[in-house]
Amino acid sequence: MFDVWLLAQQRKGDIEDATYGLIAEARRVLAESETKGSVTAVVMGPASDTALSDLGTYGVNKVLHIFSEFMERYQGGLFAGIFYNLVKRDRPTCILMAQTAETDDLGPRLAALAETSFVRRAMDFKMDADGNARAVRPVANGHLFEEVSFDWKKAPPVVSFMPSVLFDTKPDMEEKAEVVSESPDLAPEYMKTAIVDITEAPPENLDIEEADIIVAGGRGVGKGDAFDIIHELARAIDGTVAGTRPVIDWGTLPYKRQIGQTGKYVAPRLIINCGISGANEYTAGMEKSQQVIAIDLNPRARIFRFADLGVQGDVREILPLLIARIKELKTE
Ligand SMILES: Cc1cc2nc3c(=O)[nH]c(=O)nc-3n(C[C@H](O)[C@H](O)[C@H](O)COP(=O)(O)OP(=O)(O)OC[C@H]3O[C@@H](n4cnc5c(N)ncnc54)[C@H](O)[C@@H]3O)c2cc1C
Repeated sequence: MFDVWLLAQQRKGDIEDATYGLIAEARRVLAESETKGSVTAVVMGPASDTALSDLGTYGVNKVLHIFSEFMERYQGGLFAGIFYNLVKRDRPTCILMAQTAETDDLGPRLAALAETSFVRRAMDFKMDADGNARAVRPVANGHLFEEVSFDWKKAPPVVSFMPSVLFDTKPDMEEKAEVVSESPDLAPEYMKTAIVDITEAPPENLDIEEADIIVAGGRGVGKGDAFDIIHELARAIDGTVAGTRPVIDWGTLPYKRQIGQTGKYVAPRLIINCGISGANEYTAGMEKSQQVIAIDLNPRARIFRFADLGVQGDVREILPLLIARIKELKTE
């Protein structure tokens, strides 16, 4: 029997959206293994009973909820120690996570404690009943894909998935999950370091891979000051700024804000593309976005093929009107 574990991350008690795509991946891994088994979600920190049992409607069989008053906020050493004790006790087949800043910290800690392998930013992961496991991950800025194989029977592998491969899924089951709530078996004394404060970055400056809303500008927006309008729109809708390669080459935005094959792969809830033609190398990095808006002068621009809403026109005319209207709506 397989027991596929996933980490359901929470933020201030709400289950993170990426969890639902991760559950779909866990179900796929189980189905493709052609082995009977179950999906278990591990939730560390605060979460409501309803949010936990509702994970069943997405296909989770069991939820392990670990919470105490000192788990309000993520603490690397402590969370890894607690998680490791669960793994030692329950022996899952594998542990899946969504790649985030938190799992970039937790994954290696857990893998080191469990003396197992950690694959970061996987695009695909498979296991079979004989102990074979394979993960595929991009390397060399997405120009190459590497296949990694390991034996899961030795120790449960820890795999974090790229956010862009975790699709938004809908609940498709009636059942609620069985929720087992436990107090952690480790105390804060276990911590060698403690996070005492977190300052949230303004949404405009978030890492584009973690952004929920992205406003992306291309060559059509223009250099230097002309690009300020993109920052202004991002501020108006709590979005994060990104750009195409020409914008990065100009020095208008830093490289970490480039979307595309040689930049970052993003999958926000909404992306607004302004003055972007939609070259393959760009769209490869944003095609997993959920809602796509494109504004471009050229009605034949390739970006419109990807758009749920396309606006043909000059960004210098459209964006000021759009920002003014958003501000009006906000004050109403
Ligand atoms: C190996 C390789 C890797 C690459 N990797 C990347 C990558 O990771 N990311 C990336 O972005 N590119 C990448 N590129 C470059 C890519 O091929 C395109 O050249 C680039 O994406 C084009 O950027 P753009 O859409 O901003 O510019 P353009 O293609 O020049 O498009 C500008 C658009 O703005 C519109 N426009 C002009 N003025 C206005 C206006 N006033 N209002 C509204 N619309 C206007 C035009 O109609 C046009 O559609 C790569 C290329 C190669 C060869």
